Amino acid sequence: MLVERLNITHVSTGGLFRQAIEEGAPVGMQVRDYVESGRLVPDHLVMQLVEGFVAGQRNTGICFDGFPRTLAQAEALDAVLASYSARVHVVLVLDLPDEVALGRLMSRGRDDDDYATARYRLEVYQTATAPLIQYYTERGLVARVDGDADIDTVAQRIGNALEAIAA
Ligand code: AMP
Repeated sequence: MLVERLNITHVSTGGLFRQAIEEGAPVGMQVRDYVESGRLVPDHLVMQLVEGFVAGQRNTGICFDGFPRTLAQAEALDAVLASYSARVHVVLVLDLPDEVALGRLMSRGRDDDDYATARYRLEVYQTATAPLIQYYTERGLVARVDGDADIDTVAQRIGNALEAIAA
């Protein structure tokens, strides 16, 4: 919905990894264990993938989904974008109680969505990724949205939050 509204390109790093694993691509072999266990893929592999993607997307905005997940990735992203005279415009934070997030994960049926792995991914989020909220808040880039509602409502809230930041 966001991509249509803003006319930008969506990329999910997790999606790219799952695709590489399915296709038996070399990078797929390197990341498989991480993805299946819910551990973070090493930053240099993530950045290789992202740099390749950004290089092919010169004339459109990008909505990164599941990226950056570490401070090192956020800093590396800033450097990559700067080399194109581009920058991060907004970071969307969707607030959701853990039980609601787990309920959603359990109902979508992805291979890495068994309960233990999903719980572990939430832990990884708290330790490795949540600190990014401060990194981006300091830069005035965070739009925070209550994600505990149906899809249309959350989409509406995101639209409002983005308009507020653009204003
Ligand atoms: P996702 O589709 O975003 O839930 O990601 C699925 C899995 O891919 C994660 O549990 C990680 O193993 C890996 N992954 C995806 N994005 C990243 C990232 N930015 N940094 C490290 N690992 C990632």
